[in-house]
Amino acid sequence: MSTDLTGLATSGGPDIDWPDLPARQQPTWHDPAALAQTLSVLGTYPPLVFAGECDQLRSRMADVAAGRAFTLQGGDCAETLADVTGPNIRDRIKTILQMAVVLTYGAGTPIVKVGRMAGQFAKPRSSDTETRDGVTLPAYRGDMVNGFEFTPQARRPDPERLLRCYHASSATLNLVRGFTSGGFADLRSVHAWNKGFLTGPAQARYEVMAGQIDRAVRFLEASGVADAEEMRRVEFYSAHEALVLDYERPMVRRDHRTGLLYDTSSHLVWVGERTRDLDGAHIDFVSRIQNPVAVKLGPTADRDTVLALMDRIDPERTPGRLTFITRMGAGTIRDVLPSLLTSLGEDARRVAWVCDPMHGNTFTSPSGFKTRRFEDVVDEVRGFFAAHAEAGTHPGGIHVELTGNDVTECVGGTTPVDLDDLGLRYETLCDPRLNHQQSLELAFLVAEMLERGGR
Ligand code: PEP
Ligand code: MN
Repeated sequence: MSTDLTGLATSGGPDIDWPDLPARQQPTWHDPAALAQTLSVLGTYPPLVFAGECDQLRSRMADVAAGRAFTLQGGDCAETLADVTGPNIRDRIKTILQMAVVLTYGAGTPIVKVGRMAGQFAKPRSSDTETRDGVTLPAYRGDMVNGFEFTPQARRPDPERLLRCYHASSATLNLVRGFTSGGFADLRSVHAWNKGFLTGPAQARYEVMAGQIDRAVRFLEASGVADAEEMRRVEFYSAHEALVLDYERPMVRRDHRTGLLYDTSSHLVWVGERTRDLDGAHIDFVSRIQNPVAVKLGPTADRDTVLALMDRIDPERTPGRLTFITRMGAGTIRDVLPSLLTSLGEDARRVAWVCDPMHGNTFTSPSGFKTRRFEDVVDEVRGFFAAHAEAGTHPGGIHVELTGNDVTECVGGTTPVDLDDLGLRYETLCDPRLNHQQSLELAFLVAEMLERGGR
């Protein structure tokens, strides 16, 4: 991220008259006075990201849409306040940087790096309530809304949490900016990013690649063509689902250069599968902001819906403005994605296409854990590449739920996590994430797919 201060948006959101449209998945706050107070405080806080950075990401996503770059988007399903710690954030960044190096080196393609972090604190739920042993309480909607603990106090939505998540996002971004602009992200430190993780086949393969990169870097330096400053930093962007409008709306600022609106909570925001109603408040929200935005598409998304989303959010077909993140399921993607892409004609080439191979492949293990098979994740990505090869469109990236920690949440991989192992280190409060080993392994496989161009 380069901090373009000329893009510092200065005015807050109160001058914006948000239309009163139906909004799914919103918390039921109980104290209107406390909510109003919180919203006005949030509206005075400094932006977390700058308009100029959002513009820069939009131009990177234009490269993705045009097939000149590939994007890697990854992070927790749901960030939690308790997990905003130095080691957790560092290991997630290291994991994404390692995956990006594997993809860049393996496929020779620029990688647009996006962390699903610094704002990913709210979750859509299939039910408003949860019942345990005959007791019914509000469902957990993420730390931005209520607490996970199954007590009436914890589950009561508390607007104060919007402010706590703002501060946690700010602390996270501070560390991200430090790690990615200081010496830590230096290409000459590729070996160091592997340190501290358990060793396995993917880490060993990474070490070999890191040795080759070292030699290449030394060669470039010795030849006098390496720009030392450029090698020291990496562009890294933040993203989250724009779900709780009481968080996103007060974070909107007007860019003083252009008068245009930006959601300064994150560089990119997306609208989830459950809130992408054409006439709903979420699609209206993203249509008003200048950030690059994304919309998730499940297996039932049809041509008319997709075209209507494009017309609503990106009527001018601005390069990099709109990304569709498909999450079809490994068993479904080959049946539905090629025909969807083909039916869109030239319009399919005017947006970026990213594969979320996680959300269509979730199942419950016999022992009761929500999980995913690594093999299904890989298979959906293969189906994604094949669909784009068939339709003549660009497979633009992957969007994955991952952690740098050694968790046992998804099954499979070369150091396999078995169904019986899930209970060992199952730490997510929401969806199962790839662990460090599985994430690196996925990067190696995707690098091969990229290199082959979907064949
Ligand atoms: C998510 O990304 O965690 C999520 C809820 O995804 P989707 O909207 O695709 O279901
Ligand atoms: Mn999820």
